Amino acid sequence: MLHKDIILCPRCFTPHKKLPLAPKEEARCVRCKGLLYRHRRGLDLLLFSLSFAALFCLVLANMAPLLQIEFGAFGSKALLMEAILTLFDQGFVLISLFSLLVLEVFPWLLMGTLVLFSFLVLLGRGKKVARVALVLVEILRRWSMLDIFFIAILVAMVKVYQYAQIHFGIAFWALGIFVVIEVYLMEAIRIEELWDLWERRYAVA
Ligand SMILES: [Zn+2]
Repeated sequence: MLHKDIILCPRCFTPHKKLPLAPKEEARCVRCKGLLYRHRRGLDLLLFSLSFAALFCLVLANMAPLLQIEFGAFGSKALLMEAILTLFDQGFVLISLFSLLVLEVFPWLLMGTLVLFSFLVLLGRGKKVARVALVLVEILRRWSMLDIFFIAILVAMVKVYQYAQIHFGIAFWALGIFVVIEVYLMEAIRIEELWDLWERRYAVA
C-alpha cells in the first residue's frame, strides 16, 4: 500500500485507508465522525470559472486607476504599477519589490496556473502538463494571500491619515474581489482534492 493511500483524520489522527468515492459521497472518520475527504461534483468547472474570474479581476486591477487623488480642481489617478514604480523611485526599494511580487508576480502565476490546470482537466488532456501545473500551484499557494496584508495596509494608510482627497479607484475593488476569490480557492478547496481530481481524470489515459 502506498503512503498516499493512507489518510489521517484531521481531528483525532486515526489512520484510514483511502477508498474511491462516488459523486457527492463523503468519507468520515470511524472514531470521531470528522470529515476526511469528499468527492465534490463539478470541482473542475468551479475551479475554472473562479480562477478565470480572478484573472479578469487582475486585468481590471492593472487597467483601472487604483487611487484617485484630488487637489482642489485638479485630479490625479494612479495605476497599480505606477504606484509600485513611484515607491521604487522614492527609494522604498524593498517595499516596491515586495509589492511587485505579492501584488503582480504571485497572483498572475497562481491564477494563470490554476486556469491552465482546470482547463486541461476539463478537456481530459495534457496529463503531464497538468501535473506540473499542480506542483506549481502547491508551491505558489504558500505565498498567496500575502496580498491581503498589502490591501489592509493601503486601507489603513488612507483611513488613519484621513487623506480625504484620496479615493479608491475601480482597481482597488477589483483587487478586493480577487482576494475574496483567492481566499475561497485556497481555503475551501484543499490541495488533496485537486490531486484526487487529477488522478480520477487521467486514470485511464
Ligand atoms: Zn477522527
